[in-house]
Amino acid sequence: MIRINENYTKLTASYLFADIARRVGAYVAANPGKPVIRLGIGDVTEPLPQVCIEALHSATDEMGSRGTFRGYGPEQGYPFLREAVARHDYAERGCAVEPDEVFISDGAKCDCANIQEIFSSDLRLAIPDPVYPVYLDTNVMAGRTGPSVDGRYKGVLYLESTPANGYVPDVPDAPADLIYLCFPNNPTGAVASRAQLTAWVEYARRNKAVILFDAAYEAYIRDPAIPHSIYEIPGARDVAIEFRSFSKTAGFTGVRCAFTVIPRSLKAWDDAGKEHALHALWTRRQTTKFNGTAYVVQKAAAAIYTDAGQRQTRALTDFYLGNARLIREAMARLGLPCSGGDNAPYLWVNTGHDSWEFFDLLLNKAQVVCTPGVGFGRCGQGHVRISAFNSRENVATALERIAEALA
Ligand code: PLP
Repeated sequence: MIRINENYTKLTASYLFADIARRVGAYVAANPGKPVIRLGIGDVTEPLPQVCIEALHSATDEMGSRGTFRGYGPEQGYPFLREAVARHDYAERGCAVEPDEVFISDGAKCDCANIQEIFSSDLRLAIPDPVYPVYLDTNVMAGRTGPSVDGRYKGVLYLESTPANGYVPDVPDAPADLIYLCFPNNPTGAVASRAQLTAWVEYARRNKAVILFDAAYEAYIRDPAIPHSIYEIPGARDVAIEFRSFSKTAGFTGVRCAFTVIPRSLKAWDDAGKEHALHALWTRRQTTKFNGTAYVVQKAAAAIYTDAGQRQTRALTDFYLGNARLIREAMARLGLPCSGGDNAPYLWVNTGHDSWEFFDLLLNKAQVVCTPGVGFGRCGQGHVRISAFNSRENVATALERIAEALA
């Protein structure tokens, strides 16, 4: 008899966005004349930069002719993109990352979901609360946690992000082996200072641990004092893997391209105490299970690193940050404490109400959809996430309606 991976039965049943869709669907069905504005979803709304469109067209033409057609590419990505990433994202910021330490992929979601399989099944996990659910759920699926009790999986060290710590968790007293960090953060929009990241790198070095640093929203950092990469912190090359994505930088959520950096100096140990390079393990994993990102897509990603590409993607992130500023100002006028939105496309509003109650209030009174914070973890209770990914017009209308509803 075929049996299932029982770890899947530990996953908490209701999925946040399915719950939201159900409530919004019921509201829309009951109120057909009241159009709803969605400020809840983490998907971009603006079209691709022109440089990417041109690169896609010309790469597609190459695929149409025998002399320039390409089949399977290197699993780790084409050298032209790995070199562009190493030069622009790292060397220019003073970080020592070599092109062959960059693994091109079709998304940061799959990379940060898949990476856990190169680590032992019985390690001590430290995961933020609130959190991008992928980090937690993939470890549940892999059997690294116990059951969920009162909304928390047994065996996980939760790193609490609260108003008291400005939504940047302090290093814990207890040791951990695998630590997930995400800055700029989804869902809180918080960024970590150099001192805070240094404390995490030192903690990881003390504990012979690995930090999985998700920098999917790096392109939104505007404060020059905030590090864009974990590798700006001395010693991080020995303890950190970094994930980046073109999804929110250049509107690639549907095109699909991202990358993961694994320095060659990053080591972990087997049961016998022998050292192994994680770069070699991930290379083995990718060459076995992944067949590379489409050539045309990698060409479009490489176009982002041209001067025109840099200008166009900057304009795109500036546009969303402009929305974020309007949302932040509106929340301030309503007296609602709000973080994020200045170096991130997300705003984290401390509503003073139950998350779902506030969600229902905005839906029913303002026809605006936000994301209940408690859906990202226990510490998200009392908060909602508002996303800046929308048209200026929709943001302005949504804010007018919220102001009226809460007046
Ligand atoms: N990491 C974080 C924190 C995210 O919020 C997201 C997408 O919302 C991703 C990774 C996934 O990015 P990608 O589109 O590259 O899979």
